[in-house]
Amino acid sequence: MKNILILILSIFTLSLVGCETMSNGKHRMKGERGKKHDRGKGGKHEGKKGKRETVSSVCNGKSDLSKVPDNYLSAMIKYTKLNQEYLIYVCTEDSDGDGNPEFIVVESTGRPEHKSVYYDSSNKYYEDYDYTTNIHKFAAVYEDQTPRRAGRNTIEEQTLILKMPVTPTSAVDKTKTDFGAMGIALNGVSLFNENAAPGDEITDELFTFDQCSGHPENRGTYHYHVDPVCLIQKLGGKVNEVSKTDSGTTYNWLEDSGDNAGLLLGFLMDGFPVYGPIGNGEKDCKANAVPAIDEYNGHLHCTADFSSGSYHYHVKTATQGGKNDPVFWITNNYFYGEPGLIGQ
Ligand SMILES: [Zn+2]
Ligand SMILES: [Zn+2]
Repeated sequence: MKNILILILSIFTLSLVGCETMSNGKHRMKGERGKKHDRGKGGKHEGKKGKRETVSSVCNGKSDLSKVPDNYLSAMIKYTKLNQEYLIYVCTEDSDGDGNPEFIVVESTGRPEHKSVYYDSSNKYYEDYDYTTNIHKFAAVYEDQTPRRAGRNTIEEQTLILKMPVTPTSAVDKTKTDFGAMGIALNGVSLFNENAAPGDEITDELFTFDQCSGHPENRGTYHYHVDPVCLIQKLGGKVNEVSKTDSGTTYNWLEDSGDNAGLLLGFLMDGFPVYGPIGNGEKDCKANAVPAIDEYNGHLHCTADFSSGSYHYHVKTATQGGKNDPVFWITNNYFYGEPGLIGQ
């Protein structure tokens, strides 16, 4: 009897110790995360300019596509279907309650479901990466820049709320794109413009990109400035696996095949879609030639997602943009349309 009592007591004590360790561990993690969050919030406050505002959730953790206009529907469904874990919600906002929504809303936590060296090593998407690869990957813009990690930045969960006008229009007075998220890719990741963080050069920053050509800024917002090769691959686009051996080390990376111009990648806040790089030439949805790219880095023609035609941007590869090309990256300094907003 005494033995049984001792056994029960020791199991109880053991489980208490176990609990304590677990809850301590959890607490420590929470504390660390909390701190990062506080820091992030401070940064967000300072960055509250222009169209980036603190907005409350509209979708509240579920998608409702019942009022999404027909011409947007197939594209918006793609947002809700792509991610398996870091879910993306799409809904509409009808702020004056007249039954006609003003905005299509996309809500995401901004975390890619693809590998990245910028994830915490405990995350299943973490994969190591040799930044030296970027010297070869971005050889066209390499001028002795240092391939390196983007400081101590890691990918953090965000609250991204994109509000796009339901009827996007060409703006008479174009609005400049700001540093920060200007759109959301179909996998919930932020799309940034051609500007680096203040004080940096984008042609230096791209040597901090991960294996999927993205990186996080200091608040942990992961983003793409150029063609997102891993997303393109995930969406069924064709990318090439390239390798190069230099001084006995073999470097491997993914490169756009040049055949992804018809692949929808996401939307900017003006409600206009973003497509893959022009690459080897583009045909419209009826296999006709397409108009030239304008000064805002886009043009108007029909696509598989917009059969009656839509203005759209084409993301550039770092090589296509490059240091000598004035039309750079995703946009060329300005939104083509009247921007809605992105809240963080
Ligand atoms: Zn960046
Ligand atoms: Zn096009």
